[in-house]
Amino acid sequence: MFDAILIDKTGDAQTVSQTTVSEGDLPEGDVLIDVAYSTLNYKDALAITGAAPVVRRFPMVPGIDFSGIVRESSHPDYAPGDAVILNGWGVGETHWGGLGKVARVKGGWLVPLPKGISLRQAMGIGTAGYTAMLCVMALAQQGITPEMGEIAVTGAAGGVGSVATALLASRGYDVAAVTGRASEGDYLKDLGAKTIVDRAELSGKPRALGKERFAGGVDVAGSIVLANLLSMTRYGGAVAACGLAAGMDLPASVAPFILRGVTLVGVDSVMCPAAKRREAWLLLAKELDLAKLDALCVELPFDQVIATAPKFLAGQVRGRVIVPVSPD
Ligand code: NAP
Repeated sequence: MFDAILIDKTGDAQTVSQTTVSEGDLPEGDVLIDVAYSTLNYKDALAITGAAPVVRRFPMVPGIDFSGIVRESSHPDYAPGDAVILNGWGVGETHWGGLGKVARVKGGWLVPLPKGISLRQAMGIGTAGYTAMLCVMALAQQGITPEMGEIAVTGAAGGVGSVATALLASRGYDVAAVTGRASEGDYLKDLGAKTIVDRAELSGKPRALGKERFAGGVDVAGSIVLANLLSMTRYGGAVAACGLAAGMDLPASVAPFILRGVTLVGVDSVMCPAAKRREAWLLLAKELDLAKLDALCVELPFDQVIATAPKFLAGQVRGRVIVPVSPD
């Protein structure tokens, strides 16, 4: 038996509780892991509150991320004692996730813990940080270099935004941190933001083309924020879009694409191929300033996860949330 958060559904009513479940009920997989740390991501908060239909199978242990130590493995790449990370692949949505002390998954989903970071730091990074790195990689792949001008990061005080700000700054980009929380200005400057932009500047009715300002962007917001960002992107610029914090729609015009050659790059972390995610994790271990990572993380006790999920959706949580599940 082990402790877990369990989401269940009776009729239309979703319930969530911290409870004890049997290892015999774990889903199929070829690697059994003792989970050390998990996280609370935006998607976990949606799953726990039931605010969006993230969970596709019930009962479900949420938690799209975990780090831990392999206890049993019949997968050729992993042996007992190995330190591993898991992000995505439907874990916490269709397959039991990291907010339980034991997990069983397919070995092909795991990433070995890169040298230089701890199991706790890996969850400080989590899906949000790894997605931020995928966005930074996407901009680099589009040829966006620091000399080309400012990069806007929307939702900058959130998980993806905080890590993206730190990563871009460490690569030498000038980061314009777009936030709805003016109170987080000092925090964002400490992460490396050069300027702070009030989210309101990107929240008006989008114009087909605005004044050219940003060489590129990392967008977690979608909707009118992304539409405005595209209209403010300079000739030949690129925006990596990964989120929908403002909405899933995109009330934009094709003008930035056809008149300014702007590129909109979609970024997905969940089904991202194994080779690319390993590359992203190796780059994170190499490039992310661990002092900045510490500054953007808070720790949330396991027994407070359920109560904290609604605050997360209300945008009241800063940076990344680490959940110690069984850290020793
Ligand atoms: P988070 O920590 O909650 O951060 C989201 C941030 O967005 C908030 O902190 C807030 O930042 C900003 N925001 C909130 N409401 C907004 C609005 N109406 N308009 C504009 N900005 C708003 O969440 P996260 O973990 O960073 O995830 C961010 C988004 O990325 C989510 O939509 C998540 O689902 C998505 N995501 C996608 C992938 C993928 O694979 N594509 C992976 C991870 C996350 P400020 O207070 O600074 O404005």
